[in-house]
Amino acid sequence: MLVLGTTNHGKLRELLELLEPHGIGCTCLAGFAAAVDVDETGATFAENAELKAISQAVALGRWVLAEDSGLVVPALGGAPGVLSARFSGPAEAADRETVDRRNSALLLERLAGHSGRERSAHYACHAALADPGGRVVAVAVGTCHGRIAESPAGSGGFGYDPLFIVSEYHRTFGELPPAVKSVISHRARAMRAMLPLIVQALGGGD
Ligand code: IMP
Repeated sequence: MLVLGTTNHGKLRELLELLEPHGIGCTCLAGFAAAVDVDETGATFAENAELKAISQAVALGRWVLAEDSGLVVPALGGAPGVLSARFSGPAEAADRETVDRRNSALLLERLAGHSGRERSAHYACHAALADPGGRVVAVAVGTCHGRIAESPAGSGGFGYDPLFIVSEYHRTFGELPPAVKSVISHRARAMRAMLPLIVQALGGGD
């Protein structure tokens, strides 16, 4: 049984939908009293993904799949980047929807006066699989390209999704059905790259 090392409900839902059809039994951190709060102190998505996977694997003595993801806007020097969840302040200070709205409002504010290519952006997802001893045995990356809308559209997904216009569809992830996001998102791409590595590592058992 693989433990998904995240407490973000939007991510959990997506990860479960991506992994379960492949017969990979998953559970989340919620059921584990030994789970730890991991400070995301890494300077990159890759560092944070490994930090989360290793910390939870050691705390639980289980296989853990963790990921770190976020939005990158080159015109803003890569912001919000690893700070995506707490772009507008601590993410713990309010409920998830309020934080998402606050972050999106700040993003629009920072991009005011920017147009065309200056609104280009991509989502990035770095995943790391750690064994019960806390060794990282596999890593994978996925990206999804688009641009930031002038105003939110749709209510699907989570986080910055109503502002993220997907290049291939000219619609935001807020407007597109979940079935589309589950194929082309940064998380879906990272999980597709990770799947054979998970199957190989867990070998059908625990
Ligand atoms: P993490 O929990 O530190 O990896 O932070 C991830 C943050 O990046 C989320 O709270 C969102 O703000 C943003 N993010 C990551 N993936 C997505 C996505 O698929 N849609 C919208 N926002 C995302």
